[in-house]
Amino acid sequence: MQTTAQYICAFCGESNITFIDLSAGMQQSYTEDCQVCCRPNVLYVYVDEDTLDIQIETDYQE
Ligand SMILES: [Zn+2]
Repeated sequence: MQTTAQYICAFCGESNITFIDLSAGMQQSYTEDCQVCCRPNVLYVYVDEDTLDIQIETDYQE
C-alpha cells in the first residue's frame, strides 16, 4: 500500500510531496532530493498505526 505525504524541505522551506510505502514499516527514514532546490533531505517518517496519519521530520544530509 502506497500513500503520499507532504514535507517541508530543510534547505529552502518549500513543501514537497513524497510517496510512502506503508508496507516498509511504521517508522522509516530515507533520503530524498527536494523537488524545488534539489538538495538532499533526510526524511524521518512516522506512521500512526491506527489512523495512518503520517508525520515527517526533515534533516539536512551532511
Ligand atoms: Zn528545497
